[in-house]
Amino acid sequence: MSIEPNTPLIDRLGRVHTSLRISVTDRCNIRCFYCMPLENVRFKPRDELLTFEEMTRVVRVAAEHGITKLRLTGGEPLVRSNLAHLIRMLKEVPGIQEIALTTNGILLTDQAADLKSAGLDRLNVSLDAMSEAMFERITRRQGVQKVLDGIAAAQAVGFRNIRLNAVAIQNLTECEIVPLANFARENDLHLRFIEFMPLDADRAWDKNQVLSGRQLREIISREVAPLRDVDRPDKSQPAVDYDYADGRQRIGFINSVTEPFCGTCNRLRITAEGQLRNCLFGTEEWDARQVLRNSGTDADLSARLHDCVQAKKPSHGMDSPEFVPPERAMYQIGG
Ligand code: SAM
Ligand code: SF4
Repeated sequence: MSIEPNTPLIDRLGRVHTSLRISVTDRCNIRCFYCMPLENVRFKPRDELLTFEEMTRVVRVAAEHGITKLRLTGGEPLVRSNLAHLIRMLKEVPGIQEIALTTNGILLTDQAADLKSAGLDRLNVSLDAMSEAMFERITRRQGVQKVLDGIAAAQAVGFRNIRLNAVAIQNLTECEIVPLANFARENDLHLRFIEFMPLDADRAWDKNQVLSGRQLREIISREVAPLRDVDRPDKSQPAVDYDYADGRQRIGFINSVTEPFCGTCNRLRITAEGQLRNCLFGTEEWDARQVLRNSGTDADLSARLHDCVQAKKPSHGMDSPEFVPPERAMYQIGG
């Protein structure tokens, strides 16, 4: 099927796709238990990963079909060398309005200035614990101070409205909730709690480990400050935001497990080795690398993008008894 230029990426339910998450690597410098295995990680060989030129070509074609926002992720995107150069290349693509990055922050002190000068628009830093002991339990590495220094370095070079992403785990990280909230409020960061999803490489996820957005909201309202609803102008945003009643900052909850937001999902993904995906929990992939490396045309790439969008299911189906988690873990997809 040939696709007319500029045809928007609209799926069978009318969802218009404007956002693309690009995994730039499956490698990582820490080992969060809810994402990666501790040992014997099998990373993709480097020559299987898309080059910056290949990523930029996919983005150029995607932008012709209405993609305006990009998020670079991984694995840990800052371990891919010269990431700032990729950002410069993507900034040049007509139609791209915003480039964001999600990072664990470990390497941010060294790279914040380069990322800023390359034109990175937004930064999300993932941090689940303020105490080194809990950080180490979760990530199986040390590094809280490096992350905190990285956030400060990013603010010093001019990044504003940095988001702090925290995965909360039942019967484990309850003691970190209030310290994280206070830290965010004191440092002008927008904290967002993410529910633990069944995307861990060890396949040890259990719904009893999910600390729900509702539970978190109750704890925050009780122990930090009362919360007030806010309007949601952009319904495709996965987070439900609340203002602190005392006016000091805002907090969000991404309740992917207990309150799925699939009905407004506008996101596509491409893995580090060039597989297009229409859902974190999808079991199908569309091979963009094969097109890129076999003299495929832009029209061929457009067709892959549209096939991927057309096959998108109404929801991730996590609440169905038939639900089977995807074969790939979070670090292999790109969160
Ligand atoms: N390494 C970077 C980082 O950690 O920010 C980017 C990739 S990471 C896969 C992206 C986000 O996914 C992080 O905020 C991480 O906490 C989150 N994440 C990873 N595994 C998860 C899981 N099983 N459930 C919920 N969130 C998860
Ligand atoms: Fe690495 Fe991010 Fe996965 Fe943690 S969540 S192991 S930092 S890719």
